[in-house]
Amino acid sequence: MATIVSHADTILRVNLDAIAENYRILAARMDGGECGAVVKANAYGLGVHEVAKTLKGAGCKRFFVATLDEAIQLRTILPKEDIYVFHGVGRGQEKYFVEYKLTPVLNSREQVLRWEIAAGEYGRQEAILHIDTGMNRLGMNLEDAENVLTSAAPQVIDFEYIMSHLACAEIPDHPLNKSQLSQITAARRLFPGSGVSLANSSGLFLNGNYHFDLARPGCALYGINPTPGRLNPMQNVVTLVSKVLQTRVIDTNTTVGYGATCDLARGSVVATVPVGYADGYLRSLGNCAKVVAAGQKVPVVGRISMDLITIDLSNVPEEVVREGMEVELIGAAMPVDEVAKAADTIGYEVLTRLGQRFAREYVGGV
Ligand SMILES: *Cc1c(COP(=O)(O)O)cnc(C)c1O
Repeated sequence: MATIVSHADTILRVNLDAIAENYRILAARMDGGECGAVVKANAYGLGVHEVAKTLKGAGCKRFFVATLDEAIQLRTILPKEDIYVFHGVGRGQEKYFVEYKLTPVLNSREQVLRWEIAAGEYGRQEAILHIDTGMNRLGMNLEDAENVLTSAAPQVIDFEYIMSHLACAEIPDHPLNKSQLSQITAARRLFPGSGVSLANSSGLFLNGNYHFDLARPGCALYGINPTPGRLNPMQNVVTLVSKVLQTRVIDTNTTVGYGATCDLARGSVVATVPVGYADGYLRSLGNCAKVVAAGQKVPVVGRISMDLITIDLSNVPEEVVREGMEVELIGAAMPVDEVAKAADTIGYEVLTRLGQRFAREYVGGV
C-alpha cells in the first residue's frame, strides 16, 4: 500500500525538547521527591507515543493515564515504567491490570474489594489509594480509608502511595488548599508505609509542604501556565500554523461569514485560513480570537466555520498579504492560555480538542 502523504496546509508542531525541559523544571521543584507525568487523553491531545518516549528520556519513571485502554496502549510504548490508572479497576478488568502490570488508583470501597479479590487469585498486587479531601469527585473519605486499613486488603495489596487531588491549586490563597493539605497529612499518619502524592502542575508551585513524595503534573508539561496571572514558568510546546487560502479587499461596506455577525468597512482586507471548529479551533473564538500574521496580532472576524476562519489583515503591510502567507493560531506569540481565554475556556480544553486533520510535526525528542 502506498504511503499516504499529508498535503495539509495546517501544521501542528509539538516541541518535544520543550516538553523534556518542562519535565526537568517541574522535577527540580520536587527537592527529594519524585516527579511523575500525566499523559491521559493522548498526552493532552499532543500524541502519547512521542510524548511518553520523550518523558522517559527526560527521566520520568511513573506515568498516569485515565483509563485501562489508555494504559494498555501506553504499555506498548513503555515496557518497564510504572503506569497508574486514575479511574481504577472496573468489574472484569482485573486480569488486564495483572497481564499488563498496571497499577490501579483505587477510588472506592468497591474497587478496593475487587482488587483484594484479584490479589487473592493472582498474587500480591500494588495500588494507589485515592483519598478524597475536598474535590468530591473520586476517592474515599478518611473514615473509609481507615476501614481499608483494618480490612484484609493490606494483607494482599501494597498501597504504594496514597493520593489526593487539589481542587484549587492554581489559586494559591484559596482556603481549600490548606484544608486539603491538613486532611492528606492526617491520612499520611494512617499509612506510614505508603508514599504520598498530592500535587498536580499548579500544586508544584505551591509551597514545599504540598509536594510530598510524588507529583502528578500534566498541563505544565505541555506549556500551559500553572501559575495563572503570573509569568508562565514553562516553555512553549505547541505551535499551530496555517497558510492563507484566499485574500480579498472589501469594496463596499458589508459583513463576513455565517450570520453576518461582523461588519466590514470598505477597504478592509480579509484573509481566509483553512482551520475551523472541526480542527478544534473552537467555535466560541468567533469575533474574539486573535492570530499572528506578519508578526502582528490580528483579529478573527466573523464566525468560525467548520473548516475555515476569516481574519482581518487591514493593518498588515499590503505587500505581504497574499495566498500562502503564514498565520500562527497558537504558539509562542499566541499562547494556548490566551486562545483559551478568548474562547472562555482553559488551555486543557484547547489542547485536548486539537483535531486530526492537520499534519503533526515533532521537533526534537528522543
Ligand atoms: C489530570 C490530573 C492531573 C494533572 O493535572 P494538571 O492540572 O494537568 O497538572 C493530576 N491528578 C489527577 C487525579 C488528574 O486527574
